[in-house]
Amino acid sequence: MTDDLAAYRHRRDLAASGEPEGSASSSSGEHPIFVIQKHDARTLHYDVRLEVDGVLKSWAVPKGPSTDPSVRRLAQPTEDHPLDYARFEGVIPEGHYGAGTVLVWDTGTYRNLRAEKPDDGASMQQSLEEGKVEVWLDGRKLRGGYALIRMKDRDGWLLIKMNDDEADARRNPVRTEPDSVLTGRSLDEIRAQEGD
Ligand code: MN
Repeated sequence: MTDDLAAYRHRRDLAASGEPEGSASSSSGEHPIFVIQKHDARTLHYDVRLEVDGVLKSWAVPKGPSTDPSVRRLAQPTEDHPLDYARFEGVIPEGHYGAGTVLVWDTGTYRNLRAEKPDDGASMQQSLEEGKVEVWLDGRKLRGGYALIRMKDRDGWLLIKMNDDEADARRNPVRTEPDSVLTGRSLDEIRAQEGD
């Protein structure tokens, strides 16, 4: 994975795309933040981002997160994003990288579960390097443990709901709760209000 914002800035004309330049370098709260952005680009996907050391580590998850521990969702690593991207919602114009509509599908804070285990204690940076991230999400739609596991001999990772009290195979929030947690808007409403 990349480890700074050079790739983010290199790919974008930020003045024209309307996306954040990345001025904030740490969140204000006690816990690091996470955000999941629904991004209707060439193909619809969900960008899962975790705050680590002043940037948002990012994965694109085509099918979005599941609350069912038996489901494994492919998660493709993408470039680090600036922290203030976590509140970005709008339309990236045609011709720009990631052109399409973005909404904040879920956001909140997270805890590093590996750091809390006495026999483990791995930092988020270590977890990323080892390809084994375990976090507890406190979001509006998603709660509980989620693992991000790098597949052996491949570039891809898997996003898996851990088996805990918040696991629920009957829920399907990607389908039943499709809209923004910040503004309540759908992708269509954002397109209509903010598109050209
Ligand atoms: Mn995306």
